[in-house]
Amino acid sequence: MKYTHREIAFLTQHGKDRLLQPLFTETMGCSLVRATGYDTDQLGTFTRDLQRPGTQIAAARFKAHKAIELTGLPIGLGSEGTFGADPVGGLLPWNTEILVWCDSTSQLEIIGVAQGPGGGFQQTVDCEEDLLAFAEQAGFPSHGLVLRPDDANNPNIYKGLQEKSTLIPAFRATLAMSRTRKVFAEVDLRAHMNPTRQQMIKRAAEDLIAKLRSPCPRCEAPGFSEKDLIAGLLCALCSNPTRLPVAKVWRCDACGFAKKINAGDTERADPSRCDLCNP
Ligand SMILES: [Zn+2]
Ligand SMILES: [Zn+2]
Repeated sequence: MKYTHREIAFLTQHGKDRLLQPLFTETMGCSLVRATGYDTDQLGTFTRDLQRPGTQIAAARFKAHKAIELTGLPIGLGSEGTFGADPVGGLLPWNTEILVWCDSTSQLEIIGVAQGPGGGFQQTVDCEEDLLAFAEQAGFPSHGLVLRPDDANNPNIYKGLQEKSTLIPAFRATLAMSRTRKVFAEVDLRAHMNPTRQQMIKRAAEDLIAKLRSPCPRCEAPGFSEKDLIAGLLCALCSNPTRLPVAKVWRCDACGFAKKINAGDTERADPSRCDLCNP
């Protein structure tokens, strides 16, 4: 297997190196070297004080390249998380974590992904009782809170509140600054303040490591993994193709070798998923 016992440059400010080091040690014997000298908050924050330019992958890739530049090591790792609504129903708060692995020697790039429910708790409160009820629902104190006067865009932010002894004074201070006598409370989404997000970042790392340990059958480059789904599983009732996957395509980015694999769960699609039987 390639990439064992290597030093990997990692640009992160919120303890993600400590979070992921055990996984990389156990599976590959790699050590994560924290790259310093660049403020990743310049690339955007979750509290809307700075918007992130570009896509999630572009941001993670930028950090990986920056880590290589700052440390002089040939391999860099960059991490980026986003929060939004779930892609299916749009009702659940949803967290997507990406880790981009860049090898500047071979130009190979491998991306680990994990997503699921997470983050997103926010509420406007006007008394300590409501604040504490919200805090409990949001997973405080293991999850940090962020408070600010009035609304989501007020710049007077108190971040990283993880104790009642700091939460209450911060609440009183923000309430005193508020024009509307209301405080906007939300979960701190930074990795070191949010154990739910930490689990998602670990899952993205597991996905990345599985891909790193999957060599191409033709050229042996790491990263041979599922890249596409082919729709068209036949309906069990009318035998017409549905939008469900009939095959997965595994592909090597280094040499282009591809292999079609049966999608496998069922032989035929349930008619409830067929556009003709169940329009
Ligand atoms: Zn290959
Ligand atoms: Zn059908």
